[in-house]
Amino acid sequence: MPKCVFCEIAGGRIPSRRAYEDEDFFAFHDINPQAPTHVLLVPRRHVESLADLTADDAPMLGRLAILATTLARELGLEAAGYRLVVNCGEGAGQTVPHLHLHLLGGRALRWPPG
Ligand code: AMP
Ligand code: ZN
Repeated sequence: MPKCVFCEIAGGRIPSRRAYEDEDFFAFHDINPQAPTHVLLVPRRHVESLADLTADDAPMLGRLAILATTLARELGLEAAGYRLVVNCGEGAGQTVPHLHLHLLGGRALRWPPG
């Protein structure tokens, strides 16, 4: 099995520009930003995608969402607005099979996304 890039980042074996970390979650700036601020929020536990979550994951997902709220505020995104994105599956653009939430802001964001 190839190593999971986000598990490697979690363990500090691949460098990243950290925005946040605690014992359960970490966040870092996307290497290929799609907006002036583009941060990825990641649970340390390896879960492939939204499709793998169960009711037991509700507290984890809730904490992840609140972490996004906190980071968006700290990064100064709140006033102009920001977007949270989760790509689920290759057809939706998921390229890293470890659940993550994209936090994007700092520019006008169109709808619908591509
Ligand atoms: P997704 O396409 O939704 O799976 O998002 C994966 C994201 O991870 C993409 O936006 C990539 O640019 C980003 N990414 C992949 N490898 C790294 C890395 N080593 N450091 C930071 N971001 C990365
Ligand atoms: Zn992983």
